[in-house]
Amino acid sequence: MLFNMEAKIHLHILASGSKGNACVVEGPEGSVLIDCGISRRELISRADTLGVDMGRVQALLLTHEHSDHVAGVTVLCNHAELGLYATAGTVAARSYLAKLPCNLVEPGDTIGIAGMAVQVFHTSHDVGDPVGFRFECPGDALGYCTDTGVLTSEAYEALAGCRILALESNHDVGMLDRGPYPPFLKARVRGTGGHLSNDQAAQALPQLVTDDTETVIAMHISEKNNRPGIAVRTLAEAVGAEPANSTFTEARTPDGHLSICAAAQARPLSVW
Ligand SMILES: [Zn+2]
Ligand SMILES: [Zn+2]
Repeated sequence: MLFNMEAKIHLHILASGSKGNACVVEGPEGSVLIDCGISRRELISRADTLGVDMGRVQALLLTHEHSDHVAGVTVLCNHAELGLYATAGTVAARSYLAKLPCNLVEPGDTIGIAGMAVQVFHTSHDVGDPVGFRFECPGDALGYCTDTGVLTSEAYEALAGCRILALESNHDVGMLDRGPYPPFLKARVRGTGGHLSNDQAAQALPQLVTDDTETVIAMHISEKNNRPGIAVRTLAEAVGAEPANSTFTEARTPDGHLSICAAAQARPLSVW
């Protein structure tokens, strides 16, 4: 991935998928952690791998209360002075979250953290009050949206024109249909309160990608019902990108301006 000298916001994906999620958004005046579904020890070890300074992290933002997003929150908050931000629905859904001091946010809010304006928007998931985020500062923007069965109109608006777009590309519809999940779980994953498929993410890209967009990352890829290469290929086709390696886990438009790549469960990734 190219290093963009103008960029002010960077994304460090420490974990992405159904076994745990955690991402650091590095801003001009500090960093923000999105979700903590892995242990504190694992979080620190993966941050070290990427050279991410966890001492800069000022806040922890939660997307929703599923354990792959919040399992490590209590231990982390007991060890660090972090401002916790979550919706009332997320906090109410877990007694251990309700015990922590928390700044309540609502979809539609824009809050200032680490030199960035963080816009909170509705996602569509089978939990209390799930949200995604747009991080913005003059000259740069990052969109983050996972765990959503459909993209809400607010999500479309918030995610459009970001330089870095981290978008769920959870499953391949055919693999889910033929895969090992019981029927009720298949229905949940593909339902409006489930997860975004490769096709849904790809269909959204023409509306979300603009000349300002440099990197799209396929997030929360299912280990059972998807492959990184299939997710990237599907997204790449929607924006005219071509394979940049033999496994199709990276793609690029012919002019080299836009890259598509895949986040992994256990292989941390920095997007500059
Ligand atoms: Zn999840
Ligand atoms: Zn979830």
